[in-house]
Order: sequence, then structure tokens, then C-alpha cells
Amino acid sequence: MLDNLTQRLAKVVKTMRGEARLTESNTAEMLREVRLALLEADVALPAVREFIAKVKEKAVGEEVIGSLTPGQALVGVVQRELASLMGADLGPEASQLNFATQPPAIILMAGLQGAGKTTTVGKLAKYLRENKKKKVLTVSADVYRPAAIGQLETVTGQAGADFFPSQPTDKPVDIALAALDWAKKHHHEVLIVDTAGRLGIDQEMMDEIRAVHSAIKPIETLFVVDAMLGQDAINTARAFSDALPLTGIVLTKLDGDSRGGAALSVRHITGKPIKFAGVAEKLDGLEAFDPSRMANRILG
Ligand code: GDP
Repeated sequence: MLDNLTQRLAKVVKTMRGEARLTESNTAEMLREVRLALLEADVALPAVREFIAKVKEKAVGEEVIGSLTPGQALVGVVQRELASLMGADLGPEASQLNFATQPPAIILMAGLQGAGKTTTVGKLAKYLRENKKKKVLTVSADVYRPAAIGQLETVTGQAGADFFPSQPTDKPVDIALAALDWAKKHHHEVLIVDTAGRLGIDQEMMDEIRAVHSAIKPIETLFVVDAMLGQDAINTARAFSDALPLTGIVLTKLDGDSRGGAALSVRHITGKPIKFAGVAEKLDGLEAFDPSRMANRILG
């Protein structure tokens, strides 16, 4: 993990053993290695640039203490800064869902097709039922893929939560409002609304999810993003963040072998906390997001 970056930096700093401070000149070459490591992890360039500038600002002038080499000292700064950007300074509450509203607390799921929205609804329903003892209702406002409604019904059943059936001929806003009405009447504490995603960013889809958002006013609007998305994560995050007041992010497919640079790109654009990580296809594959672990993973 971090050893990899330490070794990379050790190679470029062989000649500067014994230097007592991180300076503009002794960090320049090391920062090039950090930049390469981030690009290899598929972090988008604007996020890399901002990060390198921050690290430089923090590192230059820092004393190299005791037995540390300048490389080790810089790795320390990089690790701390990346963990902080991942949300380490926000504290553990940042990954909690907000329920401070008149029930039901509505959670709206947003993201591209294939990001893992429906699977995450099932995971959240299971987590909320089993760990938070909530009465949960789910509904699908995806009227474009009839299979999507069936898929949500299946995962909701597996999660032991209640499912509000919808028809592909209904309008997404009407579906969401009908489910909300049902949830109120049947005393559900949480309503999770799954939405349609397209393969790419699409104005019509954005307008539709905005309309659903203004109709039901969710307390949580979660942007679901595939950790393997790579450089494209930045454009996708920008489009959803411009369209909706996001409250958090779910990073899926972290069980894959990607280094997860998308996490940094998405944080760079949205500034919102990454609340959960998807770590398996099955419904118990949801974890609270761990900023420090993610930082180490990105640094490879
Ligand atoms: P949606 O189109 O956004 O609703 O995406 P789906 O929930 O249908 O997920 C797309 C695919 O990704 C499915 O095959 C899921 O099983 C898979 N998937 C979702 N989350 C994860 C995850 O955290 N890990 C893995 N390995 N697969 C996932």
C-alpha cells in the first residue's frame, strides 16, 4: 500500500539524505511521482492539480524529523492531506444518514445506469432495517427499463423491506408522490426512491430527477458512483452535482481491483461526504466509508 509510494519516492530522493527540511526543490521531484501515482489511480487531472498544490503548500518548510527521510516525511503529508480530502476531518458523523425530519425520511438515489443504484437501495434497506430498526419502503421511478422495477422488488424482498409497486406507464413524479402517500399512511420511517439512469449524461434524465426531487423534497440525495469509472467520474459528478443538491455519495464496486481514484475526483467536484462504500454484489456488501483506508488505496 503506502510502502509502494514510499519506495517510489525513496528512489528519487536517494541523493538528499540528511536534508532537514522539505523545500521547494527537494519536493518538486517527489511531487512528480505523487502526481504520477494519482494519475495511475485514475484521478482526474483537475483534482490531481488541486491536490498537488495543497500538498506543496503544506509540505514546503516542514521539518524532517528524527529518523525520517524527506521521502517518508512527504509521504506523511500526502497521506494526511489525501485522507483529509476524503473526509477524515469531517468526523464519523459525516457518513451517517440524516433522519431529522417528519417521517418518512426520504432518500433519493441518483446516478448513471449500472452505477449500482438498485443494488444499493437493497443494501440500504437491509442496513436500515437490521441495524437501525427502521420500517422501510422502496419504490422504483425507473419507467424505462421494466426489468428495473422487478429487480428492485427482488432486492427489497431479500432485504425484508416493503415494496411499493409502480408501472412503466406511470410518470416518475406521480410514482414518487404515490409512494410517499403510502409511506405516510402505513407509518414507514424511511422511503427510498430509486431512479432511472442512462449510460451517459442526458438532459431529459436530469430534468426528470430534478422534478422528482422538487416534488418529494428528500432529506438525503445520494449520488451513486462506480469506483471503476476512472477519469469520467469528474464529468458525471459535475452533471449530477449541478442538477441536484446532493447530500452524500455512495462509492460502489470497491471490491474490484481499481484503485478508486474516482473517490478523489468526486470529492473534488461535489465536496459532499462519501457516506458508504459498496464492497460486494450481495446485500450485506455495504460499509461505512473509511477516508484513511481510501487514501492509502489511491496512493497504491
Ligand atoms: P443501477 O443501474 O445503477 O441500478 O445498477 P445496479 O444496481 O443494477 O448494478 C449494476 C451491476 O453492478 C449489477 O450487476 C450489480 O450486482 C453490480 N454491483 C452493484 N454494486 C456493486 C458492488 O459494490 N460490488 C460489485 N462487485 N458489484 C456491484
